[in-house]
Amino acid sequence: MFQKGSDRFSIANSERVHCALCKNQAGQGAILNTSVNYTSTSITNFAKTVLTGFGCDDNEARVVAEHLTDANLTGHDSHGIGMLPLYGEQVIDGNLIPNQQPVLNPPAGAISVVDAKRGFGHRMALLALDHAMNSVPEHKVALLGLRNSGHVSRVGTYSEYCAARGYVSIHMVNVVGHAPIVAPYGARESGFSTNPISMAMPVDGKAKPLLDIATSTVAFGKVRVASNKGEQMPPGCLVNSDGLETRDPDPMANHREGALSAFGAHKGSGLGIFVELLAGALASDDTVATMEHLPRGVINNMFSIIIDPAAFDDPDNVARRTLDFYDFIKSRSPAVGTDEVLLPGEPEINSRQFRQAQGIPVDPETIRQILDTARLFSLDSTALESLLEVQAQR
Ligand code: NAD
Repeated sequence: MFQKGSDRFSIANSERVHCALCKNQAGQGAILNTSVNYTSTSITNFAKTVLTGFGCDDNEARVVAEHLTDANLTGHDSHGIGMLPLYGEQVIDGNLIPNQQPVLNPPAGAISVVDAKRGFGHRMALLALDHAMNSVPEHKVALLGLRNSGHVSRVGTYSEYCAARGYVSIHMVNVVGHAPIVAPYGARESGFSTNPISMAMPVDGKAKPLLDIATSTVAFGKVRVASNKGEQMPPGCLVNSDGLETRDPDPMANHREGALSAFGAHKGSGLGIFVELLAGALASDDTVATMEHLPRGVINNMFSIIIDPAAFDDPDNVARRTLDFYDFIKSRSPAVGTDEVLLPGEPEINSRQFRQAQGIPVDPETIRQILDTARLFSLDSTALESLLEVQAQR
């Protein structure tokens, strides 16, 4: 059984400049799929230019491009620039709206509700958190319901954003706007989607530790990445449309056929169900049971809890206890076959450092998909591709 954090998706694996014989999208023949490592600055410029082509103004294009690049830097290619083709298609369908102004409802006590009106979630979520966090000085806590948002992408970004202000935070996101893709425990068909949770403690303005997980065994985007690279999924992640285990990512990636499994059997499945209820039934208008299925739609609703540790104790004492526990976990003897005990958030810190130095590996299929979408917005794909700079290897 594949476990979250196993070495199948470890930094060591994801950093390797990938060169493998693999099948193409249609599963025919064999092609050479060689990822190229690009500088993070050029990835941001590339993404920003594509987003400007989609109609985002300079600020929104920058916010989204920086979010996607950082997701790539942290090793979460599932939520990096490979999302751009879907965003472009959603803009064409009218389900994702550039430069949207969210409705910031006046808070009710510590509770804020923000309607993103299908704007780009990366920017909408930051504006909504800014609005909610205005309540913290008075109440020492803020609860946020962000509704009807475009894809907010890597949820850990929002824990980092709150930690930079010195706040503890928990964020739960449900995923609607398309048919569910995760099978509840005991079911052979899907009942909710990848419903992520992120939480972090603030230490010196950084999120430490930072847990950021889908409640499915893997995020959907990892199925897309495996399909683009012509790789098999690890065991235990996917079932086919007959409810039988499969490692082939293509039917799910290309046609949403089959289902992802919830992580941790009934426990992860139960968490996914409660993320749906808190983000969808409580903080928003719809769960996946009632939301219409949009063409190529992904709508996120986010329920956030933001806590000022000063309400409990001197924040320095909270940070010290956090670090004492962090070090205690680090001091545990590694299991057989494990070099080092990592805390949640460490793989992302290590990946950022490594990829800043070595570049971000992107496979040619992902670049092709982005350029194909960019052409739909009359962007010059040759000029666009020339923005990508290969990282010199040190
Ligand atoms: P994952 O399985 O790689 O788990 C990531 C988490 O596990 C991180 O907190 C990481 O620090 C920790 N981790 C990984 N290896 C570890 C190890 N060896 N020891 C200790 N901790 C370890 O990620 P995932 O569940 O596939 O999710 C990937 C991303 O997808 C997340 O950023 C999530 O927010 C995002 N996501 C977004 C949406 C959306 O709709 N916006 C939906 C689903 C997932």
